[in-house]
Amino acid sequence: MKNLLFTSLSAVLLIGTIGLTTYANTSTRSGKDNTELSTCKYGQCKGTAKSTGNRCKHCVSNAGDSYCSQHK
Ligand SMILES: [Zn+2]
Repeated sequence: MKNLLFTSLSAVLLIGTIGLTTYANTSTRSGKDNTELSTCKYGQCKGTAKSTGNRCKHCVSNAGDSYCSQHK
């Protein structure tokens, strides 16, 4: 009976590990996709949106620029 319990526990742990690994791979992949989606021709603005505190999603308009026209 103890062996059965141990086997069940091992199976649960194994499935949990596989699930976590799959989740990590999926989130890494989707994160990469997000980066690719927001890739701008000359790069993304490095400024911070004042209203939300999040990274500015605007693209810079000129090569070599680090900030969009609103954050210059
Ligand atoms: Zn900006």
